[in-house]
Amino acid sequence: MKNKCDHSLSYRSTMRTIKTTSEVYVRRCRACGEVEVLARYQGSTRNLLLKNSFRTRYAGDKNLKDILQPFQGNKPSKDFAKAYPEKARDYYNQKELNELGMNKVKSKKK
Ligand SMILES: [Zn+2]
Repeated sequence: MKNKCDHSLSYRSTMRTIKTTSEVYVRRCRACGEVEVLARYQGSTRNLLLKNSFRTRYAGDKNLKDILQPFQGNKPSKDFAKAYPEKARDYYNQKELNELGMNKVKSKKK
């Protein structure tokens, strides 16, 4: 059985708003996990669907760290490493950790 995706802006959409800032909405699909960033127009409910390039521009925004990807292209993402230092060791090898200046990070133990 496949989950039905509806990425429209309609009421029946499977997209759920996970973040709202003064500039954008961030929505994530409950079925496939895809993340979308929607620009917010002042005084209007009109939304514009934006693709990956826009998402990358906002990746450095700490308010949107939920959508950070561990890699940008094939390079380790500094923003991701900063946002999730405890995850860095899971994603990166030692060389990449050194490049990120994360070689001293220790994973938190609970
Ligand atoms: Zn989906």
